[in-house]
Amino acid sequence: MPTTLITGANRGIGLEISRRLAARGDNVLACARAHPPTGERFEPVELDVTMEDSLAALSTRLDGRALDLLVCNAGRLIGRGGVDDPAYSAEAFAEVLAVNVTGVFMTIRACLPALRRAKGRIAVISSQMGSSARAKGAAYLYRASKAAATNLSVSLSKELGDEGIAVGAYHPGWVRTDMGGGGAAISVEESAAGLIARFDELNVANAGRLLFYSGEEIPF
Ligand code: NDP
Repeated sequence: MPTTLITGANRGIGLEISRRLAARGDNVLACARAHPPTGERFEPVELDVTMEDSLAALSTRLDGRALDLLVCNAGRLIGRGGVDDPAYSAEAFAEVLAVNVTGVFMTIRACLPALRRAKGRIAVISSQMGSSARAKGAAYLYRASKAAATNLSVSLSKELGDEGIAVGAYHPGWVRTDMGGGGAAISVEESAAGLIARFDELNVANAGRLLFYSGEEIPF
């Protein structure tokens, strides 16, 4: 059965994707920085995507193994306000970029040997809030980080596509999680079901795009 590694698997969208993949028989390396989830076909992995030693331990764990799918799902949001929101400190920028941008790139690098063994695929959970074509004021830090996450996905798809590794970026919808809030538009079940269908369709010919969980292409 296919093997998938997913970051931020302990709650929210990441947990629901993990549950659904395991339920259909996939092996899931369910990563979390603390208390990774357990269950049938779950391999719990402690991974903080911002910590070099944690990423190095992941590389060691994947030695000689093959990975069919990597889902970079872990994400942070600090500051939802306008330009005067005091949440936008230099420290906040460093924290969010460390997870949403550097963390994505470093996780991909740690998993690349295992992905190469299977000609695996990479799904980056980004956001349409990073789309310059759909720019709005507010949440500046998060928007900038997700713009960079989408850019990484598209750029990596150009290089890795040549060796058969497809990379796609995805907007999960506005989802009822700790991040999305209780008033968000859709459930984690709806989002995860759509995202998994998108991951299943991902290949080198259709890679390098930002897709809504239900499949529509989003200009970035
Ligand atoms: P949650 O806030 O519910 O969960 C975030 C997850 O990321 C948690 O598992 C959290 O772990 C993990 N995480 C944060 N920092 C790190 C780190 N340094 N290392 C490893 N894991 C980390 O968010 P959602 O489930 O809503 O979001 C999942 C993804 O979807 C994110 O990338 C988010 O930006 C994106 N997204 C969500 C939307 C929504 O409406 N919900 C809309 C658009 C995009 P911990 O429990 O340890 O903090």
